[in-house]
This record gives sequence, C-alpha cells and structure tokens, in this order.
Amino acid sequence: MKFDIITIFPKIFDSYFNESILKRARDKGLIKIFVHNLRDFTTDKHHKVDDRPYGGGPGMVFKIEPVYRAVRFLKLKVKSKKLKVRTILFSATGKKLDSKIAKRLSKYDQLILICGRYEGVDERVAEYIADEEISIGDYVLSGGELPAMVLTEAVSRHIPGVLGKEESIEEKRYGAGVPVYTRPEVLKIGKRKLTVPKVLLSGKHKEIEEWRKGQTES
Ligand code: SAH
Repeated sequence: MKFDIITIFPKIFDSYFNESILKRARDKGLIKIFVHNLRDFTTDKHHKVDDRPYGGGPGMVFKIEPVYRAVRFLKLKVKSKKLKVRTILFSATGKKLDSKIAKRLSKYDQLILICGRYEGVDERVAEYIADEEISIGDYVLSGGELPAMVLTEAVSRHIPGVLGKEESIEEKRYGAGVPVYTRPEVLKIGKRKLTVPKVLLSGKHKEIEEWRKGQTES
C-alpha cells in the first residue's frame, strides 16, 4: 500500500511518520509513504501554487494546474500495472472519516492525498480530480496535513501485519474504547482509593471477555 501526499509543507510529516507503528510498518515494507511538494509541479519561476479567489474575498486559493500535474504524475507512474488508486481531497465539509471509511480505503493499492491550505482549493479539484472529499471532523484546520496524518494512520491500522499484538487486542476484538488498567491495583490519594474493576483481577477469562464486551455496547 502506497500513500502519496501532496502538500506545500512536506517537512511537517517527517517526525510523525518516523516513529512507532508507522515507522515499523514502513520498515517492514507493509506501507510506503511519499511526500510531494506541490511547488515542484508548478511551471512558473516563482513556483506559485495559489491565486486570488474569483468574485473577491479574503485569502488565497490553491490553483488547479499544479494539483492536476501532481496527480497525473503520480498516477502515470502506476498506470502500467493494474493498481487500484483513490485520490482524496481533504476538506472541512467532506465525508467524515470513520473506521468504516478507513477500512474501505485500506483495500486500495495507492492513495493520493491532497492537502489544502489557505482558503481552500479551486473547486474543480473536488469535481474533476479527486474521487472523494474527506473531513476529519467538524472544525476548520489550517491545512490538510494533520488530516493526512490521521487518515494515513487510521487506514494503515487496517492493513494486515501493521498492528503488533499489544495494539490490536482491544480494538480488534471489542471495538475501540475498551477501558484498560495496569498496576497498581489501588492508588490512594488522600482518603480516596482509585481501584481497578474486580473482574479484571479475577483471572476468569470468560467473565473478563463478557465485561469488556459490555463496556463497548451502548
Ligand atoms: N475556507 C475553508 C477552510 C479552508 S482550510 C472553509 O471555510 O471551509 C484549508 C484546508 O485545510 C482545506 O482546504 C482542507 O484541505 C484542510 N482542512 C481544514 N479543516 C479540515 C478538516 N476538518 N478536515 C479535513 N481537512 C481540513
């Protein structure tokens, strides 16, 4: 699985993608992540990626041509083999990312992720270039870079082999959000005792299983 991220701030990704689960997945060759600078796909000498919005208004808008060239270039590279490619534009008003979408996207061979900035991206990118628009929540961020990191991690976790044992038990078997505890059994803070649910200390696997299931059913 290959992630191609298009951004004007490539350095943002360096640290996050080189730690922990994603680093391990990359080292094992389970995923590949490439970050591309949108400015490399401009043709003018100032490497201009944005322009003023038609109709007026504050801020600048990403031009369509560099995005078009970047996506075309990344798609050309895989054209010969019959790979499944999906192009995604991050947008505050797109479909809200959830684990169902993450799982569906994990079936593709290549995801091309377009990170907007400023006032957003010329609407024709959404209409003609991207296959879908995705939001990571109902709030406005300054760019698509955080969403790209979130999506890359959420999708990667659905790729077989990416999760180690520790990270996978709770989420895989019970769904996200199972409460977990570790030592000490009791923590005293003044008069208060912070305890661990008894069932988890019982050693009764069936009861523990039932309890955990109960915690995620609402
Ligand atoms: N003017 C736009 C905001 C643009 S924010 C508006 O009012 O909706 C700049 C870029 O950040 C967007 O193009 C998008 O790529 C990204 N972005 C901001 N919030 C986001 C969110 N919640 N989910 C996904 N992408 C987001």
